[in-house]
Amino acid sequence: MDPRLANLVELQKAMAVRHRLQKEKTELPERIKAVEQQLAQVGATLQEAEATFKEHEHRLREKEAQLQDVQAKENKIKGQLFQIKTNKEYQAALQEVENFKVKRGQVEEEILILLDTVEDEKRVLQERRDESKAHESRLKMTLDGLQKRSAEIDAELTVAAQGADAVAKNVNPDLLARFQRIFDAKDGVALTPGNGDYCHSCQVHLTPHVVQVVKRGQDFVLCEGCSRFLYWDSELGD
Ligand SMILES: [Zn+2]
Repeated sequence: MDPRLANLVELQKAMAVRHRLQKEKTELPERIKAVEQQLAQVGATLQEAEATFKEHEHRLREKEAQLQDVQAKENKIKGQLFQIKTNKEYQAALQEVENFKVKRGQVEEEILILLDTVEDEKRVLQERRDESKAHESRLKMTLDGLQKRSAEIDAELTVAAQGADAVAKNVNPDLLARFQRIFDAKDGVALTPGNGDYCHSCQVHLTPHVVQVVKRGQDFVLCEGCSRFLYWDSELGD
């Protein structure tokens, strides 16, 4: 292979490493933010469930207080029945007792429903607390990993950039500029294998003439499909 082409093979490898790290670095803040949002969401969802549970518990306490109140009023009137002089007043008091009984029945019914609700919610809430805890610890581990990656990626990027720069020094500046343009425009791949008579980047079938040039490795040839440089990768075979 022509040394100039061999240098491009090395350059592609070195620039691809840098490109992958740059991409990762760019994406890291978004990925961190997404995990932080998920964490906040898990907390908020649980808080909502806790608040609903508390509200129902509070309503139950209120209903229990109301029941005591109704019961007390009912008892009070019952206690006064003997002191009533006129029949009319007695009938009215009996009616009032009856009204309180009905009311007491209603409140008792409401209490039973609320008791069921609160019991169910208590059980579900405990499950959700456990799930949230597990989910949170998974998310925190992911977040830790991403933050560690954030801290170390700059050092890796510096090494990769030095590697790419060192290889780039061996490439003719015009050729390097051309290579860089293709690299930037074609998602970090400026040079691609042509083994098997097709372009390994865009899958276009290569003409026998192009295949011949690629195999010989003495001239630069671009893929007709994607305009990337083609080369013969000796590790891939025919
Ligand atoms: Zn192609």
